[in-house]
Amino acid sequence: MRYLYLFFLPLWLFAEAHLFVLHRIDDSRHPYTNTSSKELIKYFKYMKSHGYKAVKLSTLIKMQKEGKNIDKIVVFTVDDSYKSFYKNGLPLFKKYNIPFTLFVYTKATTQKWGDFMNWEQVKDCAKYGELGVHSWAHPHLAKLSDKEIIEDTKKAVNAFKKYIGYVPKMYAYPYGEYDERVKKIINSFFPIIANQNPGAYAITSPKNNIDRIALTGTVDISKKLKIKVLNIKNLKIERDKNKITKISGYTKKPYVNIYITKLGWKGVKVKNGYFEYKPNFTLKKYRNRVIISYNYEMISKLILKEE
Ligand SMILES: [Zn+2]
Repeated sequence: MRYLYLFFLPLWLFAEAHLFVLHRIDDSRHPYTNTSSKELIKYFKYMKSHGYKAVKLSTLIKMQKEGKNIDKIVVFTVDDSYKSFYKNGLPLFKKYNIPFTLFVYTKATTQKWGDFMNWEQVKDCAKYGELGVHSWAHPHLAKLSDKEIIEDTKKAVNAFKKYIGYVPKMYAYPYGEYDERVKKIINSFFPIIANQNPGAYAITSPKNNIDRIALTGTVDISKKLKIKVLNIKNLKIERDKNKITKISGYTKKPYVNIYITKLGWKGVKVKNGYFEYKPNFTLKKYRNRVIISYNYEMISKLILKEE
C-alpha cells in the first residue's frame, strides 16, 4: 500500500536546476577561460525563448530550502572577478536583466592587479548580482596544510569585512579543486560551496558541494540544460595511490559510460543492477575527472593526484 503514495508526489520533486560558471568575457588572449559577448547573448536569448529563469545562487538555495519548484532555474556564477567581466559582461547581464553570483579573487582585487576588478567595481557588480568568496591567493587548496587553508580563508574573510562590510555565505574553490579535508575546513566558514564538476542540481543535492558546468568557447546551451543527475547508489572509486583500480555502484540503467581524464570513455554493462569497471589506470594529470553517464544523466567526481 505505501508505494501508492508515490503517485501523489508532485512531479517537480524530480526537477533540476543548472549552474554555470563563466570567467572572462571578450578576452581572446585566454581562450580556455573566455566567453564572447555574442555567445552570452545567445544563452540569454535561448533561456528567454524556452522559459528558463535565472536567479542568484542564494535564491536557488532559498527555493530549495522552501521546497519550491527549481525546474528551469539557471544560475550564472562568475569566478575570479576579472575586469573583462566588469567591462563586457556586466552591461549584458544588466541589459537582459539576468542576476548572477560573482566569486571574488580577493587578493587580486585588494592589490589592484591589472586584469582584475578593484573593490569599487566589485561593489558595482553587487548592485545587480551578489558576491561570493573565491579565496585570498587562489591556491591549490589540497596542496596546503589545514593551517594554511584557514589562513588563506581568514584573509579573504577580512578583505570582505574591510572593503564590503559583510562576509558572503558562499564560496567557490579555486580551480574547482578540493578533497574531503579541504571541504570540511571551507565548510566550517561557508555553508554554501560551489565546485566545478559538471552536473545538474536536484532538490536533494547538498548545498556544500554544488556542481557547476563551465562555459567557455562555443557551447550548445540547449544540451547543457538537458543534463540531469544520474542516480547511483553506493558509488565507489577505489584507488591504489595514483592508480584507479575499480569504479563500481548500483543503478537501474542497462549500462553506463565511464570517463576518466586522459583515458577517455568506456561503456560498462550493468548486471543485476550493479556495474563494475577495473581500469587499472595511473593518473596522468593533477586534476582528474571521473564522469559516469547514461544519455544526459551524469554524475562527476574530481580525483586529485597525490604528489
Ligand atoms: Zn578561479
